Amino acid sequence: MFSYRHAFHAGNHADVLKHAILVQILDYFNRKEAPYWVIDTHAGAGLYALDGEWAGQSGEVVDGLDRLLGAPQPPELVTRYLRAIQDFNPDGVANRYPGSPALTLHALRAHDKLRLFELHPTEIEVLQDTLRQLGSARRQVAIAREDGFGGLRRLLPPPTRRGLVLIDPSYEDKQDYRHTLHAVRDGLERFASGCFAIWYPLVQRVQAHEMARALERLPVQWLHATLTVHKPSTDGLGLHGSGMFIINPPWTLHQELRSAMPWLTATLAQDDHARHTLTTSASPGASPVASPESPAPQAQARSSRPARDRAQPQNRSPSRK
Ligand code: SAM
Repeated sequence: MFSYRHAFHAGNHADVLKHAILVQILDYFNRKEAPYWVIDTHAGAGLYALDGEWAGQSGEVVDGLDRLLGAPQPPELVTRYLRAIQDFNPDGVANRYPGSPALTLHALRAHDKLRLFELHPTEIEVLQDTLRQLGSARRQVAIAREDGFGGLRRLLPPPTRRGLVLIDPSYEDKQDYRHTLHAVRDGLERFASGCFAIWYPLVQRVQAHEMARALERLPVQWLHATLTVHKPSTDGLGLHGSGMFIINPPWTLHQELRSAMPWLTATLAQDDHARHTLTTSASPGASPVASPESPAPQAQARSSRPARDRAQPQNRSPSRK
């Protein structure tokens, strides 16, 4: 149960999709003065050293964040995300990767609050250290070593009646799919107007597919983006892509994703199986309206170029050593 360490995957293609959307939602929340809460049910360690033992060993960032650095004409969603990454790397070299707690803290105003759950005994220590280093105010952030699914029930609805719930389990335990669905259904009963962002892996597991279909049947406003970066492996192992399901999304997110998904697909494509989907509920209870699965333009050409060639700093985006 406790073998998963997010540091191994920090800055990979799945983090790019998840965190670019997270940063967009927070930016949208900040357009109104009214305070809000962010509840992150599966926080991880908070901030990762890309040249450290874990991320350095896996090298997953090379086919994630690294490919975005210096890539031409990034869409607004990506530019905003890269700006946030840069703020954690002021010397211009992207060696620190902010996870969801750090990115959220970076966006919050003094009157907003962050509630974090993390079960791993080492990760929670690192998270506490990270938040200290980032100078988080004690009254603004609370961390609990507790099951995030259970903790969420206790916190909903937030007193501000404005908030984002990020549900990002590792899905190492296949019960996480069932727990996520249950947490969303229960969460909507307690906090119907809340924004819920659910990350899930595109893996060859029936539970992942079933969870996504069940989320799409919820009678709420939703937006569903998936990004496949390569062909599923023949042994059925590995992560060939990921999905983000957003309930009660900012109204601006759909348009931003329409511009960003083709660009992300082309930039992160590892072979010509790369594609994306972008689906939305037309209105509460209505059937989904889908944009067709779009393969990546020039996927082969991009994937044959070494990642380092693409990591040229441009527009003040940080580079990687
Ligand atoms: N949200 C983080 C980010 O984007 O930077 C990454 C989180 S990682 C995918 C999932 C984390 O959930 C791991 O650190 C794991 O230890 C933790 N975890 C696993 N089961 C949990 C549970 N039931 N409640 C809270 N945390 C859990």
